[in-house]
Amino acid sequence: MSNDIAKPASAGPTDHSEPREHLDPSGESVDDRARIRGITLAIKNADRRMRERFRFLRHQDAIGVAWLVGLIVVVAGSASLFLGGWIPWWVCLIVNAIALSLVRELEHDLVHNLYFKDRPRIQNSMMAAVWPLLGNLPHPWFRREMHLLHHRTSGHHDDFEERLIGNGMKFGPLRILAMIEPGLALLFRKEEMKEIPFYDGKKLARAAMPVVFLFHAMLIAFLAGNLAALAMSWSGSPVVSGGVFASLLAAVNAIAVIWVLPNMLRQTCVQILSSWMHYYGDIESRLEETQVLNAWYFFPLNLFAANFGSTHSIHHFYVAQPFYLRQMVAGDAHRAFRRFGIRYNDASSLLRGNRIKG
Ligand SMILES: [Zn+2]
Ligand SMILES: [Zn+2]
Repeated sequence: MSNDIAKPASAGPTDHSEPREHLDPSGESVDDRARIRGITLAIKNADRRMRERFRFLRHQDAIGVAWLVGLIVVVAGSASLFLGGWIPWWVCLIVNAIALSLVRELEHDLVHNLYFKDRPRIQNSMMAAVWPLLGNLPHPWFRREMHLLHHRTSGHHDDFEERLIGNGMKFGPLRILAMIEPGLALLFRKEEMKEIPFYDGKKLARAAMPVVFLFHAMLIAFLAGNLAALAMSWSGSPVVSGGVFASLLAAVNAIAVIWVLPNMLRQTCVQILSSWMHYYGDIESRLEETQVLNAWYFFPLNLFAANFGSTHSIHHFYVAQPFYLRQMVAGDAHRAFRRFGIRYNDASSLLRGNRIKG
């Protein structure tokens, strides 16, 4: 697996492997500060150029609402086509997973106060709208607390959001479970979680109610109903169409295809990428908080995670930017990343418990 660290074009001791002598009072080396400034400036300049070129981008609040309405139309449209028999179940599932991955980006922007920051009532309404669409996440107001903590503590002991999805754990079955289904993995990680100050099991459970409860009830009904139907057909008495059980199962299956499975797919993809791309434990500056995961073999994960592996590192350097603009400046940001030594596709970090050093 490649460990593609592009060397900075400028001369100087900027390699990660070099000892860092020149620490400023905040503990960061002077050299790192210059590199961080270089990357942040490149992103901000690209952002400004985009805003000058496309004047409509200044209507950020309206664009946020347009995304929300547009994505709801896509999800509802694909659901209608599926229910009407015009498209197969898997097309509906894929379309909705992609659309809902963009809803998750919208939710993340709302968490960062990027739409209607002066009109909390509208902002709260948007947050209330995205929560049930996503289904398998605690409510956005809790996520705001958890996620802003992530930005303050990325890669450190207190970073609850990332540690919950396995970041920093040694590779093995429990790590894989935490990346795919952190709620289930939590049952085996209580002691570890109790050491993180932000962790409060009851608060987390309250933040999940009622949406996540309903989501998992539908998931269990989907799995149990189809297993029961399979068992009945094996035992020689298949489900009678038109009966109560068949009608209920058809309804549950439709909800699974439209809502439950797309959200499971997109959330699993974003969790795997996020747990993988953040470094943990031995990072020394923002330059080492994340890597970029954009190799071809990450494409299936990025497809259902709004290109998270490629663009989340940009967000670590500049948070005040909506998700679509982050994508628009990705070319310039990546040029700066390569120049200033951000790591790319360091896939084996997963086997090192996300340590920077081997
Ligand atoms: Zn963020
Ligand atoms: Zn992050």
